[in-house]
Amino acid sequence: MERLGEGERRSLGFRILSGSALAALIAAVIITPVVTMIHHDDGAQGSSSSAFRPASGSHAGSTSTTATAPTPSAAPGTSLSTAPSAAPGTPPSTATTDPAPTANSAPTSVVEELHLNVDDPAGLAVVVNKTRPIHPKKWKPANLDHVGAVAVREDVAGPLRKLIKASVKEGYPVYAHSGYRSYQDQRSTFNSWVRQLGKAKALESSAKPGFSEHQTGLAVDMMSADGHCNNFSCFTTSDQAQWLAKNVHRFGFVIRFEAGQTDVTGYESEPWHIRYIGKDLAARYEAEGWHSLEAFFSLPPAPDYLQ
Ligand SMILES: [Zn+2]
Repeated sequence: MERLGEGERRSLGFRILSGSALAALIAAVIITPVVTMIHHDDGAQGSSSSAFRPASGSHAGSTSTTATAPTPSAAPGTSLSTAPSAAPGTPPSTATTDPAPTANSAPTSVVEELHLNVDDPAGLAVVVNKTRPIHPKKWKPANLDHVGAVAVREDVAGPLRKLIKASVKEGYPVYAHSGYRSYQDQRSTFNSWVRQLGKAKALESSAKPGFSEHQTGLAVDMMSADGHCNNFSCFTTSDQAQWLAKNVHRFGFVIRFEAGQTDVTGYESEPWHIRYIGKDLAARYEAEGWHSLEAFFSLPPAPDYLQ
């Protein structure tokens, strides 16, 4: 429902712009508040405002409007790109100190704002999905550590231990079930699924080698340690899964594949699969209410492999 509302708002904004490009241009120069409101619908630029947030699941359905909406009137003043923070509640002073022509360098996404590198597998902001394989394909983390029987990146081990300790203390004990997987491990896993299920089904259950977030060493599959559930199926409805969803951000993680985000992430809900992005970023992700790294980082949705 949120998706529809947002899409409708975008379409309306686009019709206004395209229906009267000249009027919009004049408005861009004279009536800044109007322009900032229109800009606000520009989800493609990844505004971090709460008004954009609920649209994180709507990329697939609104690609054409998000791609085309800003361009018709944005050319001369480029004022449309100057108001990433112009949420409805933004104090007027922000808008008035943000005159159109001089603010071209204003960041339009968290990636730009914080100079994040979403391509480098050695960084904490890397995004791996069905359209973004790891480069180089057989990349390995330089430093691995172990938490229980599971290997993870060295910078993930400490936060993961803290998370596990807190889960026990707060009454929802979990443990690390699976962590780093090499390219070769993933290839064996994937091929065994292909043998068991056929390729089409295997693709639904397992990432192709080179496309798994586990290869970065930043992803961990968690499992309940309360003795009642020891498989992903029962974990999905467990109290532990709920505890994870509410608390992983405290330790620098996000739930990577949320329910309802398959069109964006390419995966069905996996409440056990957590991904480390660091404490500050995770705090922001949580506070702003994002539901996928793709949307948080203003990256295109990745519903399926390209070939
Ligand atoms: Zn996983």
